[in-house]
Amino acid sequence: IGTLVTGLAHEINNPLASVASCAEGLTERLKTIVGHKEGHNDKEEWDVFPEYLKIISDEAYRCKTIISSLLNFSRQSEPEFIRIDINRVVNDTIAVVQHQSQIKMQNIQLNLSEEPCEVIGDPQQLKQVFMNLIINALHATEGYGDISISTSRNQTVVQIIVKDAGIGIKPEHLCKIFDPFFTTKPTGKGTGLGLSICYGIIDVHNGKIEAHSEGLGKGATFTITLPLAA
Ligand code: ADP
Repeated sequence: IGTLVTGLAHEINNPLASVASCAEGLTERLKTIVGHKEGHNDKEEWDVFPEYLKIISDEAYRCKTIISSLLNFSRQSEPEFIRIDINRVVNDTIAVVQHQSQIKMQNIQLNLSEEPCEVIGDPQQLKQVFMNLIINALHATEGYGDISISTSRNQTVVQIIVKDAGIGIKPEHLCKIFDPFFTTKPTGKGTGLGLSICYGIIDVHNGKIEAHSEGLGKGATFTITLPLAA
């Protein structure tokens, strides 16, 4: 909660500071324009209006996006645990991503275990986890590099591996990517909430999610381990 609040304060503070300073700037200019000070060029004063108003509107929308993501997160219903086959959840998720995705979508190599990989879990929440990982992989590969998803099981656990040959992750970022609001995406493109939501969901399923990357340009691998249903 501490990290979340600090992140939120920071994320909202910056756009609000821009909004406030642009609004003040415009108020000052309006005073000058209305006062018609001698020798003053009104046109120059008017010229900044479109630029400042655009900043105000962009930054306000940025705050709105952050708040909506947080609301979605907090509105998440109580998990409904049932016995489900992870292979089915993976297939369902891919169908949804293929249908909804606005980014170019390459083939995802599927290497699903032939044995059922049953866990006790909430299918909607697990779908959300796979969806976030697949969308991140698609962004990281920009629609061209390989992406593979594999599942396997042993006597006690089910493992799901989402691997991509994309931009990779810097070693110093690996320990931060699950923190709320950590993002390397440009302003307005990423909220930095996806992986922290995945982390929370896997945690309530008594599982583990780990990220691995050899570094920039070396792709990334996300491994989820969940207890096999008895
Ligand atoms: P967002 O996608 O909004 O940035 P996430 O929490 O999903 O938020 O991801 C946090 C950060 O983790 C990303 O900004 C990126 O730096 C890194 N990341 C996540 N998935 C990948 C991936 N498959 N390849 C490279 N970097 C990744």
